[in-house]
Amino acid sequence: MYEGAVQDLIDELGRLPGVGPKSAQRIAFHLLAAEATDVERLSSTLLRVKNEVMFCSICGNVAQAEICRICSDPRRDASLICVVEEPKDVVAVERTREFRGRYHVLGGAISPIDGIGPDDLRIRELLTRLRDGVVTELILATDPNLEGEATATYLARLLAPMGLAVTRLASGLPVGGDLEYADEVTLGRAFSGRRRVD
Ligand SMILES: [Zn+2]
Repeated sequence: MYEGAVQDLIDELGRLPGVGPKSAQRIAFHLLAAEATDVERLSSTLLRVKNEVMFCSICGNVAQAEICRICSDPRRDASLICVVEEPKDVVAVERTREFRGRYHVLGGAISPIDGIGPDDLRIRELLTRLRDGVVTELILATDPNLEGEATATYLARLLAPMGLAVTRLASGLPVGGDLEYADEVTLGRAFSGRRRVD
């Protein structure tokens, strides 16, 4: 529709999650009208996020070093692991201030339609973490939707023989929703009301 770089920018923006064609066009023209220094700051931040941000070798969360802040904090309870799908879910749970353990980020959820199976998630890494017996409780905090439930069920069955307490967040979370959109109170209540998975 537009010539050259403007259309390329609209196309690139349109690939971002939650950005429709109209928003892409609006953002593109906003950037076109913006000061050069503002656009340069944005573009260098985009490059930095790709070049500087790492994933924690223990939990898989985004980190500024080999091991993230939470995994290297001795005040966090090492006997508790909260399993989530994405780094954004760590932020959501942290906001509740209900949880003082550590995390494990799976990197997604089981979704046969999208061709994502257990081997595509960081499940092997989770089993490795459980090997030394320090962890006594695992909280499955995957999203309250079909894929999240399927993932929680799969993990609960896989972990059942290991003899540790496996809990799932209590209801109250909107079904079909995304963990990150739950407000702190709802998510906090779901946390304190978590139940054992049989
Ligand atoms: Zn970590």
